[in-house]
Amino acid sequence: MQRKKAVVDAAIARADDERGLLLVLTGNGKGKSSSAFGMMARSLGSGMTVAVAQFIKGRRDTGEEVFFRDLPGVAWHVLGEGFTWETQNRSRDVETAKCGWAVAQSLLADPAIDLVILDELTYLLRYDYLKAEAVLADIAARPPLQHVVVTGRGAPEALIELADTVTEMRDIKHAFRAGVKAQKGIDL
Ligand code: ATP
Ligand code: MG
Repeated sequence: MQRKKAVVDAAIARADDERGLLLVLTGNGKGKSSSAFGMMARSLGSGMTVAVAQFIKGRRDTGEEVFFRDLPGVAWHVLGEGFTWETQNRSRDVETAKCGWAVAQSLLADPAIDLVILDELTYLLRYDYLKAEAVLADIAARPPLQHVVVTGRGAPEALIELADTVTEMRDIKHAFRAGVKAQKGIDL
């Protein structure tokens, strides 16, 4: 234990960089958005400012939105119109995505925002609603101390490469497959 502590202490002493991080939470398992909102709670607790941009969700009654949106230091943007298989209109989806990204660009250009959460952004890249290269350039050009969290399944390789911290949620079991509908407080 003593040897282990010396190794860990040395690693902590070496890690003295401070800069805005890009975190990606991807994979098919549950926990991507809720992890992002956990970091949001941490940030707000530390007196930081947080902006959330939700790209797919059209609904406005999730527990996280009700809880966070009126707190000081929070900006909350619902930029989606629901899932694409419900709308079935590609040109409209592309238009929605572009308008949404314009909002995200303003967040990524604002050094007063400490943490930007781009919830479910990966789908817009995966379905080519947005040009990945342009989106990554905007993220890379953000203020140097601003943190960004991107969530969503199927994160493209280029996004993973650009990111500092990447976690893949692996689906082992989900209650939905046993016929349980989305539960308040757990799923929404
Ligand atoms: P959460 O918001 O709970 O952290 P998530 O962001 O990882 O979930 P999404 O793909 O955004 O997952 O899906 C959101 C909703 O779908 C949540 O209600 C979540 O419980 C549910 N969900 C997530 N993963 C699965 C899965 N593997 N099977 C069925 N439903 C899932
Ligand atoms: Mg999610």
